[in-house]
Amino acid sequence: MAEKAIVFIDGSWLYKCRGSLFDKLGEENFEIDYAKLPKVICEDVANALDEDISLVRTMYFGTIPSSRSGFNTSKQYSFYDFLERSCGYDTYIHEIDVGNEDSRMSGNSWVEVSMATNLVYYAALPAVMDIAIVIGDYDNLSPALRRVRSLGKRVQLVSVNGANGIPEHTRLGDFPTIYIDEHAADVKLVRERLKRVCKKCGEEEETTWAGSDFFCSNCRGRHRGA
Ligand SMILES: [Zn+2]
Repeated sequence: MAEKAIVFIDGSWLYKCRGSLFDKLGEENFEIDYAKLPKVICEDVANALDEDISLVRTMYFGTIPSSRSGFNTSKQYSFYDFLERSCGYDTYIHEIDVGNEDSRMSGNSWVEVSMATNLVYYAALPAVMDIAIVIGDYDNLSPALRRVRSLGKRVQLVSVNGANGIPEHTRLGDFPTIYIDEHAADVKLVRERLKRVCKKCGEEEETTWAGSDFFCSNCRGRHRGA
C-alpha cells in the first residue's frame, strides 16, 4: 500500500528562498510550477524509500497585507486563489498590518504556529498521514516535528542549500533533507506555446496564454489604444 503524505509549505519562506532556484539555473527570475512542486518532492521521497507515495493534500501557509494598509492585494489574493483552484492546495492565509513591525513578526509566528498545529493534528489522526513533508524553515518547528515522530509518523524535510542552519545530524527528519534548488529545472514552469484563434478577429497566433479568452497581439493593441 502507498504511504500517505501531506505536504506543508511555509509560503513566505518559499518566496524568500526562490532566488536559490533561479541561481541554480543561472536565471534572474522564472515562475515556479506550484502544481508540480509537491509531486516532484513526493517522487523524490518515493525513489528514496522505494515505496509508492500517495499525496493526500498540500497545505500552504502564508500572510497577506491587511486591506487597511493601503496595499493593492488583489494580485496576492488571486495567487492564493490560483493555488486553491488550479493546484489543489489548501491555503491558510493570515492578514497582517505590513506597516507595523510587530505585526509582521506576528505574521511569521502565525505561519509557524499554524504549521506546527496542523502537523501534530494530522499526525495524531489515525490513518491520514504516514509522512509529513515540510517545506520551510523548520528551526522553530522542531518541538512539533519531534512530536510527529513520537506518534510514529515519518518526517521529510525540504529546504534550499544554505537556508536552514540545522545540521543534518540533529535528526529532525527521518530521511536526508531534499533541496528544492537541486530540482530547480523540474519545478520551473514551462508554458506551452500553442496556436490559438483570436476571439475578436479570428486570426491564429502562437501564445503561451492559457486563459479562456484569447486576443491576438493586434487586437490587444487596439483594445489598449481605445
Ligand atoms: Zn485579433
